[in-house]
Amino acid sequence: MTDYEPVIGLEVHAQLLTRTKLFCGCSTNFGAQPNSNVCPVCLGLPGSLPVLNAEAVAMAVRAAVALGCTIEPKSIFARKNYFYPDLPKGYQISQYEEPFSRHGSLELELDGVTKRVGITRVHMEEDAGKNVHGVGGDSLVDLNRAGVPLVEIVGEPDLRSSAEAAAYLRALRDVLVFIGVNDGNLEEGSFRCDANVSLRPRGTEKFGTRCEIKNINSFRFVQRAIDAEIARQTAILDAGGKITQETRSFDPDTSQTKTLRSKEDAHDYRYFPEPDLPPLALDAAFISAQKSKLPELPAAMRRRVVEELKLPPAAALTLTGHPGYARFFAEACAGFGDPIKVANWVVNEVLRGAKSHGLDATFSVTPAQVAELLALVEAGDISGKQAKEVYAAIEGSDRSPRAVVDERGMRVVSDAGAIQAVCERVLAAHPDQVASIRAGKKGVLGFLVGQVMKETKGSANPKLVSSVLEKLTS
Ligand code: ADP
Ligand code: MG
Ligand code: ZN
Repeated sequence: MTDYEPVIGLEVHAQLLTRTKLFCGCSTNFGAQPNSNVCPVCLGLPGSLPVLNAEAVAMAVRAAVALGCTIEPKSIFARKNYFYPDLPKGYQISQYEEPFSRHGSLELELDGVTKRVGITRVHMEEDAGKNVHGVGGDSLVDLNRAGVPLVEIVGEPDLRSSAEAAAYLRALRDVLVFIGVNDGNLEEGSFRCDANVSLRPRGTEKFGTRCEIKNINSFRFVQRAIDAEIARQTAILDAGGKITQETRSFDPDTSQTKTLRSKEDAHDYRYFPEPDLPPLALDAAFISAQKSKLPELPAAMRRRVVEELKLPPAAALTLTGHPGYARFFAEACAGFGDPIKVANWVVNEVLRGAKSHGLDATFSVTPAQVAELLALVEAGDISGKQAKEVYAAIEGSDRSPRAVVDERGMRVVSDAGAIQAVCERVLAAHPDQVASIRAGKKGVLGFLVGQVMKETKGSANPKLVSSVLEKLTS
């Protein structure tokens, strides 16, 4: 049996988060009444003319720049002709031979190793509508999505395993979500992925024949679909067979891919330049204006918090997993100047009660509450253990941690006189231990500190207790 190396390239369609469609003023609102966000342009009525949405262009350029692409000063919209009920014009306006950007790359991280993957091109196109099947035995068409702006991001066949493909997809999603042009939602179809898979004998150069798996709609399925396709192709090649180029679909129930259409059924899209739109001209000022709107990208942020703030890589990865998490962390750091302590608290406590959906993230506390809580611990007013109790009390409310501490009388006793009295009592009750300490066994001090903490039900300042005990036993 031959050892085969998988070769994988992904094509991603990402919906741009504009308020209106690519060539008309209709709303892009998701979940509206079917066929309510439509007009003559997106219905494809005769005589209507497309007008390009400037905000969509701006977002597409930001995406391409963030992916390191070269922006072309001139690009051409093209008609891609095919017949389908969800495409009322009979063609999709896309970009073909002259896309607005090319030659980018994306860095992915897998098992601590970083790898740079090529991006062939990013182009703009409009989405189709949606066919809804099986409604009382009928198939219905909803054209609300027809004309919604997309970017198609075509990746180079640089990926070598299903795990790399999944990591690439996550890295791509993170970039688009961080720059705010897409909500990264595979399940709802605003971020869609087709995977091209081929095999070649390991050590050889020439690519094998590829199959394309269409519309994989979750991160979990991407890896499973590719693994299933690798297994299928391996079995064919091992049996001396040949791969036929075709489009396949993945069935999560059987974990298998199956033929959708063969190469013979491939469409001839009869591309030609869109006569109703002039060439798109992008000048240097526009491009640099978009560049200047880009925030710090997730990979750069990860590197910075590890190198400059000394966060553990795992915490850095978690905190940059969503722009809302990153923002929360930054705001909490602004209120409390120890990033490692903030990161610990955010990763271990705050994110357990956090939810993210699309670009939004919701938390059960605010960064200011977390900063105040950490400051109370730092000042020795409460112990780390008490901090958890305070946290439970402020979760889901706008209460101040300080108010909870006062109300519950939790403030750590830092009154030396009060502590001294307890210490003296504890020493009198443990003469053997005191003798050990005086004989040089300093470690026994910790036991006595524990006894004092027990007596005071954890309310004494442990640092103070320790220094008082030290003085009394010396
Ligand atoms: P099409 O437009 O027919 O889908 P492209 O040439 O644009 O074809 O390629 C689309 C995708 O297929 C790209 O993401 C590319 O990386 C990937 N690809 C091309 N050749 C191979 C191959 N031999 N094996 C795996 N992926 C491939
Ligand atoms: Mg393709
Ligand atoms: Zn419209």
